[in-house]
Amino acid sequence: MKIEGSVSVDAPADEVWTALFDPAVMNSCIPGATDIERVSPTTYRGKVGIKIGPIAPSFDVVVEIDETTENESVSATIRGEEGSRASMVNANALMTLEPLTAEQTELRYSTTVSVTGRLGKFGLGIMKKTAEKQARQFAEALSRRLSEAQPDDRGEQEQTPEPHRVRTRSASQPPAPSDLACSLENISFEYALPGGKTLPVIEDVSFDLRRGEVVTILGPSGCGKSTLLHIAAGLLPCKSGRITIDGENIIGRPGKTGLMMQSDELLPWRTVLENVLLGPEVLKGGTTKADSMRALELLEIAGLLNFEHHYPNALSGGMRQRVAFVRTLMLDRPLVLLDEPFGALDAITRGEMQQWLLEMRAQLDQTLLLITHDVDEAIFLSDRIMVMSSRPGRIALERASEFDRPRNFEEIVVDPRFGALKRDLLKAIHPRNSSR
Ligand code: ADP
Ligand code: MG
Repeated sequence: MKIEGSVSVDAPADEVWTALFDPAVMNSCIPGATDIERVSPTTYRGKVGIKIGPIAPSFDVVVEIDETTENESVSATIRGEEGSRASMVNANALMTLEPLTAEQTELRYSTTVSVTGRLGKFGLGIMKKTAEKQARQFAEALSRRLSEAQPDDRGEQEQTPEPHRVRTRSASQPPAPSDLACSLENISFEYALPGGKTLPVIEDVSFDLRRGEVVTILGPSGCGKSTLLHIAAGLLPCKSGRITIDGENIIGRPGKTGLMMQSDELLPWRTVLENVLLGPEVLKGGTTKADSMRALELLEIAGLLNFEHHYPNALSGGMRQRVAFVRTLMLDRPLVLLDEPFGALDAITRGEMQQWLLEMRAQLDQTLLLITHDVDEAIFLSDRIMVMSSRPGRIALERASEFDRPRNFEEIVVDPRFGALKRDLLKAIHPRNSSR
C-alpha cells in the first residue's frame, strides 16, 4: 500500500533536511517505528512493529538513510527480521521524499508499506490506518521541528503569526465529509408506570460525538444513564428528540449501534470464537469464512489469540469482557455503547482493562459512548465527559479530558489537572455534598 502526501515547508531546503534528520521526526516517518536513535550521520537504529494489540510484534531495525544527492533526495529503508514470533506478520516500510529545491515550498513524500504473513483484509485496514496516521504525524513533527528551528527571524516581512505554517495533506485520505459520528438532540424520556402515572427520567439531553471520540457519561445512580444508552441502542422508543447517525434518526431502530453491558452475557456452551460469531450468525443467518477471519483478527488484537477454542468458563473476568467487546465489534457499527463495562471487575483487572480499551481504541478508531460511575476511569479513558444531574437527568456539566494520548494512568493521576478535574466532576455529580 502506498500513502502519499505533502508538507508545505516555508523554509530553506537545508533547514528542512536538518529538521528531517531529527530523531523525533524520523520516529514518526516510518509506520510503526519507535525509539529511533541516530548512530551515524546516515544510520538510525530503533524498533519497528505493527502495533496490533498487546502482542504486537516488534523487532529491531536499522534505518538506512540513502541520500542520493546531497540536499536533494532522501529515502529511508527499514528492514525487520523475517517473520515475527507473535503473529507471523512481517512488514517493510519505505519512505521516499521528493527532491526539494530552494524555490519549492512543498515537500512531497510517499510511504510504501508491504506486509507479508497472515493478515487478512481487516488487519490490512488497520495497517493502512496506522500508516496514514503515521504519515500525518510525520508532517506534524516536521512542522513542529521547523517552527522551533526558526523562532521569529522572518517576522519582519510576515507580521501575522501562523503557529502551523506547515499544512499536511495525505492524498490517500478521504476529504473528510463530516467529523460527526452521532448527534443526540433534545432527548427527553419518561417511563409509563402502572395506574397511568409517569416517571420523568431524562430531560432535554443534547450532545454530539465526533468520529473516533470516547465520550463518557457520569452521574448518580438512577439518573437515567442506562436508559439513555438503551434509547441510543434503539431498544427504547422515545417520542421526544432525535438521535442521528449517518443522517438517519435511529430512535427505535437498533441497527447502527453495538451495545455492551456490565455482565458479559457469553453463552457458556459456545467457544470464544462461536460467541464472537454470534452477531453475524443471527443477523445474516450464517457465517462466512471472511467472518471467521475477521473474528480471529479481532481476537488477536484483543490479546485473545489461542483462546478461540476455549469455553467462557475457562477464562478470567477480564478476558470474558474482552470477548464480549470483540463480539460487539463484530457487528461493525459506527457507534459502540458500553454500560459500565468494567463495573463487575476487581480493581486491578479494571485498571488493566482500561489500559487495554485505550489501546484497542487507538488502533480501531472506534467511536465509543461509555457509562461509568468511576470518575478516575472517566478521566483516564475519555476525550469528553458529560455529567448527568439526578433524575430527571440533564447534562449538568461537560468537560474535556485534556491529557495527551497515549496515556499512562500512573502519570496522569499525579498531574494537578487530574485532581482539579476530578473535583469539578464530583461536585457536579453530588452538588449538595460539595457545600460541606
Ligand atoms: P442509571 O443507569 O443512571 O443508574 P437507569 O437509567 O437504569 O439509571 O434508571 C433511571 C430511573 O428509571 C431509575 O429510577 C429506575 O428505577 C427507573 N427505571 C428504569 N427502568 C425502568 C422501567 N422499565 N420502568 C420504570 N422505571 C424504570
Ligand atoms: Mg445503569
